[in-house]
Amino acid sequence: MESNLLKNDIVTTVIEDMSENGEGIGKVDGYTLFIKDAIVGDRAEVKIIKVKKSYGYARLVKLLVPSPDRVVPVCPAAVPCGGCQLQAMSYEAQLKFKENKVKSHLERIGGFTDVQVRPVIGMEDSFHYRNKAQFPVTQDKEGNIRMGFYAGRTHSVIETPHCYIGHPVNDRILALVKEYMRREGIRPYDETLHKGLVRHILIRRAAATGQLMVCLVINGRKLPAADGLVRSLFEMEGMTTVGFNVNMERTNVILGEKTMILRGPGYITDRIGDISFHISPQSFFQVNPVQTEKLYGKVLEFAGLKGQETVWDLYCGIGTISLFLARKAKKVYGVEIVPQAIENARENAKLNQIGNAEFFVGKAEEVLPEWYEREKTYADVIVVDPPRKGCAKSLLDTIVRMNPKRLVYVSCNSSTLARDLNYLCREGFALEKVQPVDMFAMTVGVECVAALSGGKSAEHDIIEVDE
Ligand code: SAH
Repeated sequence: MESNLLKNDIVTTVIEDMSENGEGIGKVDGYTLFIKDAIVGDRAEVKIIKVKKSYGYARLVKLLVPSPDRVVPVCPAAVPCGGCQLQAMSYEAQLKFKENKVKSHLERIGGFTDVQVRPVIGMEDSFHYRNKAQFPVTQDKEGNIRMGFYAGRTHSVIETPHCYIGHPVNDRILALVKEYMRREGIRPYDETLHKGLVRHILIRRAAATGQLMVCLVINGRKLPAADGLVRSLFEMEGMTTVGFNVNMERTNVILGEKTMILRGPGYITDRIGDISFHISPQSFFQVNPVQTEKLYGKVLEFAGLKGQETVWDLYCGIGTISLFLARKAKKVYGVEIVPQAIENARENAKLNQIGNAEFFVGKAEEVLPEWYEREKTYADVIVVDPPRKGCAKSLLDTIVRMNPKRLVYVSCNSSTLARDLNYLCREGFALEKVQPVDMFAMTVGVECVAALSGGKSAEHDIIEVDE
């Protein structure tokens, strides 16, 4: 419906729903507004920011009646910072929001009306859960160095003394890097001028061992006077690896190809359950270690392994899921695009004395089809865990042709999950259930594990899954 509202108008509305990005949705004379900082159940005065033909954007200016789900955000930067979108919502309401988001994607995009979506597995402690942070480094108009997070939808950096979803150790690391930059006259990177040196600070902390890794992402090939920085960082308990990554491109991608290690082995060692992992700066590792164990437990349960299966784990990262499955299978093959992650995966198999896992570097959508064409590769179970954009169609086609007994789809984006599940189910797979897991409290993100059974034409039995 069109509207005669204008930019900067102030109107009163009741928030009836939430968008998948965490904006409140309210109507004014039938015209839909997406309202920043409002949550479902609020009655509020809102200011129009942008008017489009059939909907508009607004932001909350005055709360008239707060939603019963409203809480006071613990972080003073919760509103301007683009990191947490749901801090003003109680944790229970956040979980409900995520369950609805998954259901709505499966219905609207996937066309599934009767699929079993289980309640989201929530966190016990919903703050300070992240084991990784990537802080952008910029400067303000006065030339002061700023390290923090991007404000919503912009590249201006909000500096907070403490991020409530990160580990408290980050604060000290940032202070040491800032001190070093000031002392040595090292400038932050300016993305408009493509000048200056330090772009991002990547910090990782292994929750099980307390080991720390710091990697400065720089627009250059050398880090001046690095010794002093390394020395001060290594005075911190747990510091294990310090290095820098070279990224001289004009790009929003954080890491460049090349990482130089200044001190330490080039990785940290963490543990999920009873399996240890080496993690290097470029490798993917789930950011929430406590929930990761629950997530992998569900993957294992949905895979329904009995001990004799051949399994392919696509998008395997450092071999996390592969190694969990290898303990219960005959053989696991992992495929991953980042060479350093595959190096970690191979080390990790050795580290845990797991001899029945083999890893390949390459695109899943190329490696698996090639193997299938050449060797008629067989799989009892296939696991996929793609990035946000989901699986390439050529990969899904090969999976359909291989027709495994079970397919487990792990996803951090329920809209591409719904799209891919729709395709797979039209090609004969059956979707049994979807288990969302909250890995990202305070944000709109939600992880899902979906269990599917093999194609209708399959001549094999469908494995019973223990409930
Ligand atoms: N299963 C792993 C990693 C999942 S994240 C874990 O739980 O830790 C997704 C992974 O897919 C990342 O490691 C990323 O590097 C990798 N990736 C991205 N595109 C890919 C592609 N086309 N083929 C194979 N791997 C890819």
